[in-house]
Amino acid sequence: MKLDILVLAAHPDDAELGCGATIAKHAALGQKVGIVDFTRGELGTRGSVPERDQEASEASRILGVAIRENLNFRDGFFQNDEAHQREVIRIIRKYKPEIVIANAVYDRHPDHGKGSGLSFDSCFYSGLTKIETTDAGVKQAAWRPKHLYHFIQSQFIMPDFIVDVSDYWEKKMNAVRAFKSQFYSADSTEPETFISSPGFMKLLEARGQELGFSIGATYGEGFTVRKTIGVNTLNDIR
Ligand SMILES: [Zn+2]
Repeated sequence: MKLDILVLAAHPDDAELGCGATIAKHAALGQKVGIVDFTRGELGTRGSVPERDQEASEASRILGVAIRENLNFRDGFFQNDEAHQREVIRIIRKYKPEIVIANAVYDRHPDHGKGSGLSFDSCFYSGLTKIETTDAGVKQAAWRPKHLYHFIQSQFIMPDFIVDVSDYWEKKMNAVRAFKSQFYSADSTEPETFISSPGFMKLLEARGQELGFSIGATYGEGFTVRKTIGVNTLNDIR
């Protein structure tokens, strides 16, 4: 299946937190959006791998994504090296996305910046015909996505552009809440973590509002890009 947008993320829930509303918006426009998680989040303090698998599939259903895969890289210890790049290249060539969205360029969790670098490098190398890969035994053609954007995670990064996601904020929050083991729940007996504190949900809400208000919308999601953005006319900017 060819995708319009492929989201590459270090952990299940990164995509929902970083760009869940943008995913839902593009899916609602009839575009094919997929998520490929690098790890199963097995080092997460709360929850278990089977729980997170189940939560990820529920979140995918809420957002309306076309595919979701997991590369089973090691949480915390995956590397941006040839072996991992080849796996990510295989995924990029398999789904031929026009746009890739990846982790924040840096963040509190080291896997996020690492995932960002792995995605950036793999998108470029995927376009080199002399790097040969196979998927299910079939030789793949080179493919380089047109654009690579990075979402913003816990650590605030000034965005290069903001998507108006006002009509899709509730869907995003429902998808985030589908990760019941990870986020605040009054009746949980698991240890409190940075992302399961009640303050974290307030931060998400406040971030969405601040980014939205800055473009005259109710809610926004911000992105960075490592190249200069071109527009056809000055009217393209809202
Ligand atoms: Zn994460």
